Parts: sequence; structure tokens; C-alpha cells
Amino acid sequence: MQPKKIKLVDGINLMILWNDGSEEYISLKNLRKHCPCATCSAERDKQGKKYIPLYTENQISVRSISQVGNYAIQIRWQDGHDTGIYEYKFLKNFQPVG
Ligand SMILES: [Zn+2]
Repeated sequence: MQPKKIKLVDGINLMILWNDGSEEYISLKNLRKHCPCATCSAERDKQGKKYIPLYTENQISVRSISQVGNYAIQIRWQDGHDTGIYEYKFLKNFQPVG
């Protein structure tokens, strides 16, 4: 599964058009909340499932998105956080809990 097109919509959603023709919208807030990097994963583990992080504007605004190999994208947030590598298979099955 590969994205044909990835774009930001209204600065709050990420739209992904997959090569099977399906379109997916994921809010940036949820993407940040489920950032797959080691630091954020550890933080979520520590805080537990009921943890609801409060984000500042620059933590949920995207500075840039770059492709990583042919399997993932890397998102650079406005606050400088850029260690999250979002694999396509992760994004394709993205079902945020709350
Ligand atoms: Zn992270």
C-alpha cells in the first residue's frame, strides 16, 4: 500500500490518497497524540490509557513532511519534534482511540 498523494487540509487534517483509490483523513492532533517515536511511546506508557495530552498550537501544526524510503513518512512539527516515523501500514490502519 502506497500513498498517491498526501496533503494538509485546512492545517488541521492530513489527507492521504492511497493507491487503491481510498481516501483517508487523519487529524493532526490524533497523529501527534499517537506519535510512534520512542519518546512519545514511553510517555504514553507512563501516563496510561486515560492520558489526555494538551497540545499547544505548534505541537499540532506541521512544518514539513518527508518521505522515508518507500514505507513511511516523517513529520516535522512546528515545535521541532521530528522523530516520529509514520509507517504507511500504521497510517492505513489508523484508528485512534478517542
Ligand atoms: Zn514523538
